[in-house]
Amino acid sequence: MPGTEIIDMHFHLCRDTQQEKVVFPKKGWPDDWFYGSPDTVIPFMDAHGISYIATMNVMVTNAMIEARVRRAREQGATEEAIAQARIDLKEDMKQRVRQMNDWTLEAQKKEPRIIVYAAIDPVLFGDETMDELERCIAMGAQGIKIHPSNYRHYPDYPTMMQVYERLQSAGLGALTDTSSRQSPDGNAYGVPLGWRPVLQAFPHLKLIQAHLAGDMWDDQIDLAREFPDNLWFDIAGGWVDDHHPPSGHAGMLASQAVRVLRKIGIERVMHGSDGPPLDPMSAAEQIMRMDFTDAEKEQLLSGNAKQFFGLK
Ligand SMILES: [Zn+2]
Repeated sequence: MPGTEIIDMHFHLCRDTQQEKVVFPKKGWPDDWFYGSPDTVIPFMDAHGISYIATMNVMVTNAMIEARVRRAREQGATEEAIAQARIDLKEDMKQRVRQMNDWTLEAQKKEPRIIVYAAIDPVLFGDETMDELERCIAMGAQGIKIHPSNYRHYPDYPTMMQVYERLQSAGLGALTDTSSRQSPDGNAYGVPLGWRPVLQAFPHLKLIQAHLAGDMWDDQIDLAREFPDNLWFDIAGGWVDDHHPPSGHAGMLASQAVRVLRKIGIERVMHGSDGPPLDPMSAAEQIMRMDFTDAEKEQLLSGNAKQFFGLK
């Protein structure tokens, strides 16, 4: 797609190639094919016409703690030792989240084509949530990434209400995962309709619901109608077609995309890829093949994100 500007507003940078190989492994790839760290992403962006990426910081904090507890149990740790380990692991995990926010914000400082949404886990951080938010804002975070099913909190979790208040007054954004997946405790924390009380309470919040083409887009059409001023969407995960089977974040048929996106309002939908775990170019290529007008394609691929993130 030569000449087409793309903004990928849902990306997941890794610290370096070593980390990327562990977190998002690609079978048989030599090291120099990996493109998802601050040192490697700019040439990749240039090669594909991507002017900006927004990296959405997220860490599977609960899963990491549970994995280590499981391992300790297998190795015969006492219940007392496990209780202590849980406390230590929580501190360790908070530190890792802070470090991720740090290195990404440092990358943003060096490279204006990288936009950072900081990781905020209100269950892990508890009383320290606002401290971490303020720290990130002071370092230049342009918004936060929320992942209810991963961190196991509902969107209107009390600590988060303070977070939204701060974001709203600072004009900063928030992007949330919208997975309908149940967390191991059996709750589906992240479904789109769970955001209704938040959108009602914060009429000027700049909320993006990720994965519009996921499996709950009928509910997202309802929300879009109800909240015309504080709700946007991305299409990270792409659509289902002959080459893309249904998956966690892809439930909508590509053949429905034009109809559904026009119903929601093209100006409220942005292209994001969820790369590198997902192919960063696949959803953009799907948009290019669809029966949108050229003006609509331009809006979806870059124009709407320029507006939303205040880019030139
Ligand atoms: Zn993502």
